[in-house]
Amino acid sequence: MSDCLFCKIIAGDIPADIVYQDDKILVFKDIAPKAEIHLLMIPKVHIESLAEMGLSQNSSQENAHNELIAYMMLKLPELAEAQGLSSGFRTIINTGKEGGQVVFHLHIHLLGGSNLPGF
Ligand code: AMP
Ligand code: ZN
Repeated sequence: MSDCLFCKIIAGDIPADIVYQDDKILVFKDIAPKAEIHLLMIPKVHIESLAEMGLSQNSSQENAHNELIAYMMLKLPELAEAQGLSSGFRTIINTGKEGGQVVFHLHIHLLGGSNLPGF
């Protein structure tokens, strides 16, 4: 997606403070952190949002999405631990305009550190 901000970060066209990457995902620091530690985890393939990952049909693409979202979720504790967040962390996925999504490339917010507000 040529006009997608996060695809540009994946391509290296826009700089980011990358903390982890492999063949499936990229993890980088949020440019406007809302907590002491605030990372964004994105898939390297362009998927607009969680709403594009439905269980509505049994396609091969969906199977790939099943594996990808499971991989992302299961990778989060490891990343949190590596950031020193041994006492806990928060994950947020904003989905769609009314869900507060601003960048339409699926991303998981990983937040932690002192003074994480309750909600
Ligand atoms: P969301 O509201 O869930 O779409 O979150 C988008 C997030 O992307 C926000 O927390 C922004 O601060 C963050 N963001 C926007 N541009 C950049 C960038 N160039 N590098 C890192 N994070 C960014
Ligand atoms: Zn993208």
